[in-house]
Amino acid sequence: QFPFGRRLPCDIYWHGVSFHDNNIFSGQVNKFPGMMETVRKITLSRAMRTMQDLFPLEYNFYPRSWILPEELPLFVAEVRMMKDSNPSWKPTFIVKPDGGCQGDGIYLIKDPSDIRLTGSIQSRPAVVQEYICKPLLVDKLKFDIRLYVLLKSLEPLEIYIAKDGLSRFCTEPYQEPTLKNLHQVFMHLTNYSLNIHSGNFIHSDSVNTGSKRTFSSILCRLSSRGADVKKLWSDIISLVIKTIIALTPELKVYYQSDIPAGKPGPTCFQILGFDILLMKNLKPILLEVNANPSMRIEHEQELSPGVYENVPSPVDEEVKVAVIRDTLRLVDPQKKKKKDTHLIFPHLHGVLIFFPPSYHVMYNIGKKIQAEQDQFIIPYISLNFSNTSPSVEVSEELPDTAPGPEAALPSLCLKQVFPKYAKQFSYLRLVDRVAALFIRFLGVKGTTKLGPTGFRTFIRNCKLSNSNFSMAAVDILYIDITRRWNSMGIEHKESGMCLQAFVEAFFCLAQRKYKSRPLHDQVASLIELCECRLAALHGKRLVWGCG
Ligand code: ADP
Repeated sequence: QFPFGRRLPCDIYWHGVSFHDNNIFSGQVNKFPGMMETVRKITLSRAMRTMQDLFPLEYNFYPRSWILPEELPLFVAEVRMMKDSNPSWKPTFIVKPDGGCQGDGIYLIKDPSDIRLTGSIQSRPAVVQEYICKPLLVDKLKFDIRLYVLLKSLEPLEIYIAKDGLSRFCTEPYQEPTLKNLHQVFMHLTNYSLNIHSGNFIHSDSVNTGSKRTFSSILCRLSSRGADVKKLWSDIISLVIKTIIALTPELKVYYQSDIPAGKPGPTCFQILGFDILLMKNLKPILLEVNANPSMRIEHEQELSPGVYENVPSPVDEEVKVAVIRDTLRLVDPQKKKKKDTHLIFPHLHGVLIFFPPSYHVMYNIGKKIQAEQDQFIIPYISLNFSNTSPSVEVSEELPDTAPGPEAALPSLCLKQVFPKYAKQFSYLRLVDRVAALFIRFLGVKGTTKLGPTGFRTFIRNCKLSNSNFSMAAVDILYIDITRRWNSMGIEHKESGMCLQAFVEAFFCLAQRKYKSRPLHDQVASLIELCECRLAALHGKRLVWGCG
């Protein structure tokens, strides 16, 4: 809506595809720059691999994956090695073209030699992944979960998860993969867009039947069978947080390139679709992340051959309307203003306040909120007796908890999980700190790649070269790694070292410097050293500046 005409700035911009749909200079945009690129199958696999190298146990919710064609020899060799060490292992693999969606071009194989190495794999790279053979079945059918996640802010990181999601069902009873059933997509792939073409597809007219149901209906069923649903939710929350932690370094590089720090510009938020598979033992597995999850709340119905009409889909409506509504509530600029105007007096021990009868008074006792409303609503005063030193909040505006227009809305379906659980996960944010170093040395605003001079300056300022590691060796490291990454053909637009290449170089330096320690330890130590030396240098510069 443009109530004051298209030319005036808006508070919120809702783009259909990407950040770049329009040139935006203020307000909030519902897309992050670079999100689509960051969650593509190959980029996501690379980011997850980096995290798996650092924290193998924490990131074992992502199937082992290889990137084709460049890692084909590695894939063949690793599978052979694993088969040799465990002859009873009879794996299946799933090949997924990069940038594909809705099951497009996906197929299953039993052996690396079955990869269809047609010309297309050169022009359309893919990810090959271990296939999860023992999924949890409901009504003998495989299903996956689509969960909606709101990335409300990147810096500081704020993540919300929708309390309900969708469960999308296959339409043929599941059997573990054999050479005979590998090609049966209605048995192995849960995509709605594929299964809708099966004769067995049932459009759901309630939330707990048919081929698309709410996730909460599945949880109810599991809970009635005695499953530990609380633990399952907590595992899902940690999967989501860890995945976003893996994506943030790359997103930050795109962000600073499109919205340079210190300049006025928009802020971003984004609804992401997480596709998750549950294993028989209820362990959640990440399949993929969608930057543009479908928000349709209707489905097509064929009235007569070739004649379609859109009819409401109650299951989609139940889940998706709440996600959009609550996203708008959370990014509401008025709400932010309200928060900023709250005054807090934390050390009052007793308060006696006389209220003119027309004032609106909030008694906030612990979590229980009661309100007495009158037609005059300013100012708001809230007494908080929840701890030993009661506090009073005075605000010129409607407090969050006041029964304003929001009171008519249901409680939030989006639950904040970060920073709420930040403490548990902060040790995983190592690559984020490597990305901060990378961004610091990028130099020219708007770039995403580090030139050789920037890399040299990084080495010099962090004092990482010495008699064993000369500046000539630094240049060789830069050239070797950069050339390899640029030859992978991901992006030729800019020359120089991309973030992943820098991360690889950084890991190399860390391994060199702190031999025979676990990788995450080596990397953490090098980050600390660099941060420390840069802080000292910055301090010195400030002193010189003053002098
Ligand atoms: P697309 O973007 O084309 O939908 P996905 O990665 O979501 O690609 O895969 C499509 C479907 O294939 C998933 O919905 C799921 O049913 C199945 N699938 C994908 N990866 C695996 C896996 N590693 N193990 C088992 N099933 C998988």
